[in-house]
Amino acid sequence: MNVYLNGKFVEHAKAMVSVFDHGLLYGDGVFEGIRSYDGLIFKLREHIDRLFESAHTIMLKIPLGKAQLIEVVKRSLRVNRLHNAYIRLVVTRGVGDLGLDPRKCTKPTVFVIADKIQLYPRRLYERGLSLITVATQRNVPEALNPQIKSLNYLNNILAKIEAINAGYEEAIMLSHSGYVTECTGENIFLVKGRRLMTPPPYIGVLRGITRRTVMELGERQGLSVCEELLTRHDLFNAEEVFLTGTAAEIVPVVRIDGRLIGSGRPGPATKRLQAGFRQLTKTEGVRY
Ligand code: PMP
Repeated sequence: MNVYLNGKFVEHAKAMVSVFDHGLLYGDGVFEGIRSYDGLIFKLREHIDRLFESAHTIMLKIPLGKAQLIEVVKRSLRVNRLHNAYIRLVVTRGVGDLGLDPRKCTKPTVFVIADKIQLYPRRLYERGLSLITVATQRNVPEALNPQIKSLNYLNNILAKIEAINAGYEEAIMLSHSGYVTECTGENIFLVKGRRLMTPPPYIGVLRGITRRTVMELGERQGLSVCEELLTRHDLFNAEEVFLTGTAAEIVPVVRIDGRLIGSGRPGPATKRLQAGFRQLTKTEGVRY
């Protein structure tokens, strides 16, 4: 596999960054995860825009323009002959000294990894997922805004560790005030009647690109879609709950903190959204 690193494609075993890179020393950097389906890159422009927004907020100047970066993503897929892939775009502050000072880092590190997609087990989608709420709260936006898709994912990893320790695959993280935010790498939705609900970004969730796609699909399928503050009570009493993310797509949730959700099986609205989503990935996207 060939990896793009600072302007060149190199064999993956030779794709190495310095131990003085502030992406490694301090998590000082930003990233994106993108999917391609049968030769079409899904929502490429949206991912590139979000990467540039994350970088702008942390005052990191990406040394390539958007069009150039899009070209690198396409080339990464072509040189590795990948038709269905997961693409990881990373920009770090670059090499500096052992202090925090970002001014010492004069050249950002840019790399793009295009690899085969590691699909989640089928049974996850057929049977649905059991979730647990964890004690680790989602970062408050006033401290580290979850809109910044930064290399600093310890908040999410701490929550994931709690879930794993308790025997679960995924965690629900609450806000400082106890409202539902998101999972460690996915957004969360509930269905009740004709309503499709998801927490608003200001409570501290990433504006997921799959989240936006599912909200638009829901509208088209006749659901009334809203962003609303949600509690665990709302989740427990929903008819359906599911998670969304680029890698996971749409995952049904059938149990939360020991409570069965709806029938305890993936519900009809979730299945319709999954089918609609699958259709979109086949028809929309940037060809390479
Ligand atoms: N929340 C978090 C914390 C994430 O890391 C991700 C994955 N990027 C998501 C939600 C889902 O976002 P997207 O649909 O854009 O992949």
